[in-house]
Amino acid sequence: MVLSKTVSETDASIHSTFASRYVRESLPRFKMPENSIPKEAAYQIINDELMLDGNPRLNLASFVTTWMEPECDKLVMASINKNYVDMDEYPVTTELQNRCVNMIAHLFNAPLDESETAIGVGTVGSSEAIMLAGLAFKRKWQNKRKDQGKPYDKPNIVTGANVQVCWEKFARYFEVELKEVKLRDGYYIMDPTKAVEMVDENTICVAAILGSTLNGEFEDVKLLNDLLIEKNKETGWDTPIHVDAASGGFIAPFLYPELEWDFRLPLVKSINVSGHKYGLVYAGIGWVIWRTKEDLPEELIFHINYLGSDQPTFTLNFSKGSSQVIAQYYQLIRLGYEGYRNVIENCQENAMVLKEGLQRTGRFNIVSKDNGVPLVAFSLKDNSRHNEFEVSDNLRRFGWIVPAYTMPPDAQHVTVLRVVVREDFSRTLAERLVVDIEKVMQLLDDLPPSKPTLPEGAVKKTPLETQREITTYWKKFVMERKKTNGVC
Ligand SMILES: *Cc1c(COP(=O)(O)O)cnc(C)c1O
Repeated sequence: MVLSKTVSETDASIHSTFASRYVRESLPRFKMPENSIPKEAAYQIINDELMLDGNPRLNLASFVTTWMEPECDKLVMASINKNYVDMDEYPVTTELQNRCVNMIAHLFNAPLDESETAIGVGTVGSSEAIMLAGLAFKRKWQNKRKDQGKPYDKPNIVTGANVQVCWEKFARYFEVELKEVKLRDGYYIMDPTKAVEMVDENTICVAAILGSTLNGEFEDVKLLNDLLIEKNKETGWDTPIHVDAASGGFIAPFLYPELEWDFRLPLVKSINVSGHKYGLVYAGIGWVIWRTKEDLPEELIFHINYLGSDQPTFTLNFSKGSSQVIAQYYQLIRLGYEGYRNVIENCQENAMVLKEGLQRTGRFNIVSKDNGVPLVAFSLKDNSRHNEFEVSDNLRRFGWIVPAYTMPPDAQHVTVLRVVVREDFSRTLAERLVVDIEKVMQLLDDLPPSKPTLPEGAVKKTPLETQREITTYWKKFVMERKKTNGVC
């Protein structure tokens, strides 16, 4: 029993604001409690516990939007009880999603006439979008192989080792082999030449990333397209390209309109983008757009008839909220091209302020590029005494959440810290963060070296082996700390 026996719904103390007046014992964590508690108590208890979560605005680990205008918040709250899938009942919401698909398809230069509707769908995020795009490629490839009387049981996909985890999920869930182009020191994106070398007759597509999660860098989709056209010509295959533009899809069109990465390149058949990243909507929305109707196999589409018209649906989820679709439409029409450009330019400038501030300290190497996603990825110049995980850990004391992580193979000996610059990360905060990072460095300088010493009798390792060992040790250490803190 959780509730203090002296408290009842009619008790005056119900209006108190402190959960401790209601709760004299710890809350049940495994079994649903026997009795009800007053709504105020439930609210207060949960609200109080949630205070211990990090502050989303200071969560610099995430690309996902944490601030929207109050007018949009109002629209979000007003539609929070609308199930998106009830297209019969909410035809206007469906219409708004279709308008978003059209606008985004035009932004990505899909070959459409002014009045033509684009092929695409709103998803829960880029992950669902990528599952759908991947399935379309797999099915198209299988159909072609069947027609040719060739085996179709060993599909593969070629990506860089820097892909986001959702590609690994796609590969495992839908039984497609993931062939990853390895990274190397100082080069943290997919090398198009190596990717094309890895393509074979079983390759359903090559996935390029516009805005690598690790350092924000854009991959060279144009070069990939050109090399792949040649290879296709030589071999008679028609291996297509998918662009994972989860974060870059709402950056490149505004900052680098001349950059050819999208449907202007003939082999790009589908593109995904996260509405909840630089699309500037709260968590829960992504988009996938196909070049033409022919690129989405008809057999994957389910048709729902309502109001005399045909509503095709192709998603993994059935029910979901409508708020994010409505919020996306709000942002597109509220900001327009001009507004998005201003927001993204501002993010880019704030990233520069941060980058220059970090460079001035003389302590860091910058691993991100200026013409990518507005983020700053950096590593310590000298990590002989303390490492990036400690910097990350200590920044928490100041409220900042800045992740440290190791690069994927073959660059796993490199550890970086990453700050994603979102719309709500102002110049003042950027300057403040530099000051706090300097404080952390000072703090670490004053501490004795914390690196583990090698066990006695250990064979002397090469610096690279030692570095890898230390990195593994710290990763484990940090994970365990997180587990015991219950933060994971
Ligand atoms: C964030 C991200 C994803 C996953 O997107 P969600 O919208 O979080 O599902 C996939 N790929 C890249 C490159 C990303 O940055």
